[in-house]
Parts: sequence; C-alpha cells; structure tokens
Amino acid sequence: MRVVRNVEQLREAIEYMRGGGHGPIGLVPTMGFLHEGHASLLRRAGEMCGTVVMSIFVNPLQFGPNEDFESYPRDEKRDLELAEREGADIVFIPSVEVMYPVPIRSKVMVSSLTTQLCGASRPGHFDGVTTVVAKLFNMVQPDYAYFGLKDAQQVAVLRQMVSDLNMNVSIIACPIVRESDGLALSSRNVYLSAEERHQALVLSRSLREAREAVEEGRAGTAAEVKQLLISVVSRSPLAVIDYAEILSFPGLESLESGSRLTDTDGEIIMALAVKFGKTRLIDNIVFTPKEVAALV
Ligand code: AMP
Repeated sequence: MRVVRNVEQLREAIEYMRGGGHGPIGLVPTMGFLHEGHASLLRRAGEMCGTVVMSIFVNPLQFGPNEDFESYPRDEKRDLELAEREGADIVFIPSVEVMYPVPIRSKVMVSSLTTQLCGASRPGHFDGVTTVVAKLFNMVQPDYAYFGLKDAQQVAVLRQMVSDLNMNVSIIACPIVRESDGLALSSRNVYLSAEERHQALVLSRSLREAREAVEEGRAGTAAEVKQLLISVVSRSPLAVIDYAEILSFPGLESLESGSRLTDTDGEIIMALAVKFGKTRLIDNIVFTPKEVAALV
C-alpha cells in the first residue's frame, strides 16, 4: 500500500498501477476515522477493481461556520492500518493546502436535490461535497467510485453531477453498515455520551417501525408515516429532531399528500436527522413501498 500526500505523487502512483494493467481503478472518498462502514466500501471496491484508491480528507468546504470541522475526529495511524487490512493500494491524504492551494473560485453545484434534507439544514454543504468529489475524480480518474447509502442524499446528488457533467465514472452505492443493535456506524458516534448512545437507537428503531407499518399494510399517507417516525424518535428525551421526511428517491420530491404510501410508484426514502447534544446523527432507509407491501 502506498501513502501519497500530494497530487503529483498520487498521479504517479495511479499511472504506475494503470501501466501495470491492474484492471479498473476504484476510488473510495472518506473523511477518515475509519470504521466498518468505510471498510465495506473498500471491500466492494476490491471485488470489482484491480486498484483501490482511498482518500482521507476532512474537507473544510463542506462544513458550515458553526460545525465540527476543527473537532472532527482524526486518527491517521489507525486509518492506515484499516486501509491496509482491507486491501487499499493507494491512500491519498492531502492537507488543506494541497487540496486548496489558492482560495477556490470554481465550484460544482447541483440544484434542487440539494435544497431539502441535509441541504436545508446545512447550507452550502453539498456544494462542498460536489466540489471536492469532482476534484478527486479529476485527480484519480477512477472507473468506479464507492459511496455509502448512509448518506443517501449524497449518492443522489453525486449521480446527478456525474450524469449532468458526463463524468466518466460509475457511482456504486453500498448498503448502510450498522452496529448489532441497529445504530448506523458513523465517525461522529464517538461524540456521544453513554446515555446519548443508548437513546440514539431511536433513529434506526423508528425507521424499522415505519417500514414494518408499510409491510404489514398499516401505513397510511406519507404524512401519517412521518408522524409515526416523529412519535418514535420523541420517545427519547434527549433527541431533538432536525428533520424527519419521506420523499421520492432519488428525485427527493414530496409524495402526494392525499394518497397512501403503498400506492407510490418507485423508491422512497425515509430520512432522519436528529441531534443529541451537539452531535447530529443521520439515518435513512430506501425501499419500494409497493414491493415491500406485496410481500405480505
Ligand atoms: P465519511 O468519512 O463519513 O465522509 O464517509 C465516507 C463514505 O463512507 C461515504 O460514502 C459514507 O456514506 C460512507 N459511510 C459512512 N458510514 C457508513 C455506514 N455506516 N455504512 C456504509 N457506508 C458508510
């Protein structure tokens, strides 16, 4: 495994692998403090690609002024051990100066998909994401790029960017990895106190209960299922809901308010963002109500 810290070294390492005929190149962009969710992306990339490139970069552009850029957890040594164990060939760890040597004047922005859910709560966040991912795509020129459905809106936004701008890369969306009790893995989980960690289970639990309501034919309209989500999350006294939404996926459009959820065509996303103290957690579930309900 090669660790590279600037763009010249990165390009040289990739050229070397490309020249060796090692097969497709897969890119796994991350912000580090790696866990089993990141490992699952690396493994998927390893199954499909001869060369796996992982980037570790806490991107200031995607953090708001009052967010946790400074305090975001970092542990390079542990990250490199995990990357090596999970088969990364090249790990790119740029500094902020390497990524943004001069104040950036060009940005990539995706409209409409970025105005709801996390885009509404974190203005400018997705512009930071699309800009840094576009830069990484230009640097690495991967055949495939791997992203987790933990950030399902990010997947929808990046797919739109790749399609709109004819980027020559396929986005591979990977399932959410959870702890055995249901909590979605996140680098930010380390911020939680023991009591917050316990109460944070309301995110996955509410999504599971809402999905079960659909499966068992008990779900009414999207608005009613949204109320169910909110009522389950509210069982936790420490939870402060940022949003609870049910939208079409990947278009992220509102569902018809009058009709039953099970009459919706195509996929939907049930998405939550909930704060516990200073820690903001997100979780979601994407499925096709008609298929799920038909299983009953
Ligand atoms: P991050 O380091 O949090 O920016 O995440 C890097 C990539 O890992 C993103 O594509 C995330 O969606 C993905 N990821 C983070 N947590 C999980 C998880 N629990 N399961 C699957 N993918 C994840």
